[in-house]
Amino acid sequence: MKEYATNNHPKILVVDDIPVNIQLLQAFLATQNYKTFIARNGEEALRQVENVEPDLILLDVMMPKMNGFETCRRLKLSDKAKYTPVIMVTALNEIESKIKGIEAGADDFISKPFNKLELLARVKSLLRVKTLHDQLQEKISQLERAKERLRELAVTDGLTGLANYRHFKDVLNLEIRRAERHKSLVSLIMFDIDFFKNYNDTHGHLAGDKVLQGIGTLVSNNIRKIDLAARYGGEEFAVILPNTGDANARFVADKLRLLIEQHQFPFQDTQPNGNMTISIGVATYPASGKTFEEFISCADKRLYKAKAAGRNTVVDKGGC
Ligand code: GH3
Ligand code: MG
Ligand code: MG
Repeated sequence: MKEYATNNHPKILVVDDIPVNIQLLQAFLATQNYKTFIARNGEEALRQVENVEPDLILLDVMMPKMNGFETCRRLKLSDKAKYTPVIMVTALNEIESKIKGIEAGADDFISKPFNKLELLARVKSLLRVKTLHDQLQEKISQLERAKERLRELAVTDGLTGLANYRHFKDVLNLEIRRAERHKSLVSLIMFDIDFFKNYNDTHGHLAGDKVLQGIGTLVSNNIRKIDLAARYGGEEFAVILPNTGDANARFVADKLRLLIEQHQFPFQDTQPNGNMTISIGVATYPASGKTFEEFISCADKRLYKAKAAGRNTVVDKGGC
């Protein structure tokens, strides 16, 4: 959690080219429990804001080289100090320099020699604004983080961490359109766990959920970054393979089938075939179907052909 200016010792940067002025301000501010930092010219002030990140800046107008107006302008352009309140300390109580100060981004003014109570009142008032501003910034970042998390949740399956059905549908539609436009290919792998009801009935739903998670991890760890693995439904999964023809899709499907066959799932020996296995259907756009529905339906039909053929099998031809 960021420390706000409301903490016990707000940080004030005093910028002045005359040492005695600095000393006066510093001595007074110290009695009021402020932590002070100093800069003797504009350049140093710009450097100090990077290191110190002050809550407020007291800035002398009359300085050699870079005067207070120019310094203020630059401070307000910097990332670190753009929202840091600046009080300009001016010897001249002229309207003209106040206007210049406001144009340069100053938030308030105090004239030299300063009146202690007035200085204190102005410092306090701007620190209040700074605190509110910091709190607002913190709320905005919290909101941004929450929005990001929501965006993530909206496309993710809670159990496996893979894409959910809605996201799968969006991405597949997008990939089909892309393949259409570029005259390229996109392949779809759909698979279903073999005899999963048996596993659930024997070891309980929680054990079944662990298998689903394990399969999710195995699949996402063994596909390319551009591929998308999704939980299509209860114990059915899908993998979208952009820019992939039937031969390569077959290769990936065989790899996934073997990976799951060889992975040691708890109690897998109680499965009818003595192992945790999956059956896979593979389809490639456009040969296997021109629309989203035809494409899915083709992969699905082949998946059920794989079941009929004895399970733990890949089918990538016929039936569509
Ligand atoms: P097949 O080889 O023909 O696919 O047989 P199966 O037993 O896998 O198929 P069936 O459709 O009869 O059963 C699917 C099972 O998947 C039933 C259901 O309990 C289980 N299942 C579906 N969703 C979940 C889930 O989210 N968690 C758990 N643990 N099990 C699930
Ligand atoms: Mg099923
Ligand atoms: Mg099944």
